[in-house]
Amino acid sequence: MPAILLDGKALSAKIETELSARVERIRQQNNNVAPILATILVGADPASATYVKMKGNACRRVGMESIKVEMDEDTTTEQLLAQIQQLNDNPDVHGILLQHPVPAQIDERACFDAIALEKDVDGVTSLGFGKMAMQQFAYGSATPAGIMAILKAYDIEIEGKHAVVVGRSAILGKPMAMMLLNENATVSICHSRTENLPDMVRQADILVGAVGRPELIRGDWIKDDAVVIDAGYHPGGVGDIEISAITDRCRAYTPVPGGVGPMTIATLMTQTVMAAERYYQK
Ligand code: NAP
Repeated sequence: MPAILLDGKALSAKIETELSARVERIRQQNNNVAPILATILVGADPASATYVKMKGNACRRVGMESIKVEMDEDTTTEQLLAQIQQLNDNPDVHGILLQHPVPAQIDERACFDAIALEKDVDGVTSLGFGKMAMQQFAYGSATPAGIMAILKAYDIEIEGKHAVVVGRSAILGKPMAMMLLNENATVSICHSRTENLPDMVRQADILVGAVGRPELIRGDWIKDDAVVIDAGYHPGGVGDIEISAITDRCRAYTPVPGGVGPMTIATLMTQTVMAAERYYQK
């Protein structure tokens, strides 16, 4: 059987169409006031600036508004905390996105954790992570939540499967592992000190590559019929997994680009709309 292409681009377009209708409903019920996502970009990293721009464009596509906060490279933790507090206190703002990474002098964890839980639509707070892990309501970290959405949309069976997550970052690998565990996968988490990474990867029924190194995970480490999810994106259009080597023998795979990336943004949009709906239902 040919491998299933887990088409994040097509799925995110469908999600955006549904979100447009929900945003329109919010506007109709609230004097044409739209949900607002506030984005904070600290410094001038071109990749981060592009990601923030893409998120602003996605807001426009679904009829939402965005407030763009740009702060200097030499911003202090205190200044960023004060900015986040202002957005927490602003009733017009429904979601807050602090673009990762922030410059090295800033305590990023403290700043993430200062975001009000009900506005943490990118799922970066420790409290949100803890609630998600305990299967209570919280917005999931956008990239792993987007991966779960694509697995669900394509009816990929998770229960009882061995999921191997390569990477353990706070925004991706760790929440990914927890979300898969919540869906009853048996989960292994690998990282830079893991011994025999190829042998670990060989055991995966579901493999998630989130290492940030171009094609570090080689095709010949991956067993036939695995479901292969590649979170990475590098110049030249390659991810963290050597996807081209397995497209004819895996069960399903995310393309790079057009797999996980669009789902991250669609999830951020979905969670912002949810935050606005919850705000107006209060
Ligand atoms: P990160 O913070 O740099 O974390 C990388 C993880 O990979 C770490 O846990 C690290 O282990 C592990 N690692 C590094 N080298 C390894 C090796 N040789 N063997 C095994 N594990 C290794 O990166 P991230 O933010 O999680 O991002 C991961 C990937 O996802 C990147 O390619 C990034 O571009 C992509 N990403 C995509 C989106 C999207 O929207 N599509 C969003 C976020 C990230 P240690 O913990 O031991 O250091």
